[in-house]
Amino acid sequence: MDYVIEPQERPAVRVKNGGLFPVRRIFCIGRNYADHVREMGGDPKAQPPVFFTKPADAVAPDGSVIPYAQATDNLHFEGELVVALKSGGKNLDLAGARDAIFGYAAGCDLTRRDHQARAKDAGAPWDTAKGFDASAPIGEITPAAEAGDLSSARLKTIVDGETRQDAPLTQMIWSVEDIIVALSQQFELKAGDLIFTGTPEGVGPLQPGDDVIVETGPCRLAFRIGA
Ligand code: MN
Repeated sequence: MDYVIEPQERPAVRVKNGGLFPVRRIFCIGRNYADHVREMGGDPKAQPPVFFTKPADAVAPDGSVIPYAQATDNLHFEGELVVALKSGGKNLDLAGARDAIFGYAAGCDLTRRDHQARAKDAGAPWDTAKGFDASAPIGEITPAAEAGDLSSARLKTIVDGETRQDAPLTQMIWSVEDIIVALSQQFELKAGDLIFTGTPEGVGPLQPGDDVIVETGPCRLAFRIGA
């Protein structure tokens, strides 16, 4: 049967040294660095992982100029390590989680902090705080074999030349594999899924014209907030 409207092209992310990674879903974890949990007023070990999602077409490529998001006065950056899955499954163990990893990228979980604060107060969903257009800028994906061991890497966010976030990945409360295991207990993970693995302390507002760089291990993302 024919489509009744033009079908959309599948969102995709460039892979280092060539190729495109087709995006299926975008999962995100909240509160995953001890110091960020404290800055947001929480106790790091008190709760199980909090997951939320963004639409697949929220991805924006490296080098983008991203318009300042509509309907907010408080657009925040959250620099994050992103994991790209080449396979999936339900109820994975740690070895299964490792096997599912295609590669890593630097990403930014753009957030309407004003919406998130209202949602938290109201016990309401986070969709408008997190899942808006172009809310998931992501750099080129480095295949896992090439990325090597990231355990000694840091996550750094630089806004207009000033380092705003700089934390070791060892500060993550739930490791990459832990996150995949926990997600697979709630969803059947599939090839093409991306996972934003949380942000360290230092989040803050962006202004039109800001240049944002996120770096972790060999991965890098650069984008600008437009007027
Ligand atoms: Mn985040």
